Amino acid sequence: PPLIEFQQVHKRYGDQPALVDINEQIHAGEVLVVCGPSGSGKSTLIRTINRLEPIQSGRILLKGQDVHRPGLDLNALRAGIGFVFQQFNLFPHLKVLENCTLAPQRLLGLGADEARDRATQLLQRVGLGHKLDARPDQLSGGQQQRVAIARALAMQPPVLLFDEPTSALDPEMVGEVLAVMQDLARDGMTMVCVTHEMGFAAEVADRLWFMDAGRVLERATPQAFFSDP
Ligand code: ADP
Ligand code: ADP
Repeated sequence: PPLIEFQQVHKRYGDQPALVDINEQIHAGEVLVVCGPSGSGKSTLIRTINRLEPIQSGRILLKGQDVHRPGLDLNALRAGIGFVFQQFNLFPHLKVLENCTLAPQRLLGLGADEARDRATQLLQRVGLGHKLDARPDQLSGGQQQRVAIARALAMQPPVLLFDEPTSALDPEMVGEVLAVMQDLARDGMTMVCVTHEMGFAAEVADRLWFMDAGRVLERATPQAFFSDP
């Protein structure tokens, strides 16, 4: 069964449609890149998966569970879905290491030592083993975004969602963040990425969706997508 399934999903902001009849599946282990023009609904689409946005009708299933069903524990839902935003959204008053241990301790009940070991390993993996005690404002944008990725991974979620993770970065820092994402992809992480980085899409994605006016208009492999005449 798919890890995530959209069934006839519709969403409006007021009376303006933002998602129209979305029927799609995302499978474990795949890297999906969602592309399309500004305003086509990409950000809205991924924000409905962890209920940062409500939907008007249809269902979104994560491991078979309806994530929009009334009464669902929102904290538990979001604890199980890694989300990396355009803006890094780190806790500014916490050190890098603490940014990555807080949720695993509070929400997963990890002991302090285990949370610290896990976070340290992940921060080493994203190239920030030397910045454990820094505060976010002492880091570059690229470093902050790598902390945000490590923080998401510390919850060991089955899927990571990325909403334009490099769009707020200075150009020279884009590559270091994409390299981390590529490393995760190689490792078999399930990833849904809204990004305009077509090089990343061509090289790393297993599949692409092309959105326009709230619909998924086209689904393709990068090979097919980028070789279209
Ligand atoms: P994309 O990520 O492809 O740029 P969005 O999902 O951000 O597209 O937006 C889809 C449409 O919904 C756009 O027309 C946008 O203006 C509108 N929209 C997005 N967020 C809101 C909101 N909070 N309130 C009203 N309209 C919104
Ligand atoms: P993104 O595409 O990453 O959502 P935007 O710049 O489109 O970035 O939106 C930034 C914020 O403004 C988001 O919270 C979005 O929901 C909101 N927003 C976007 N479009 C509209 C709109 N037409 N009316 C009201 N809020 C909007």
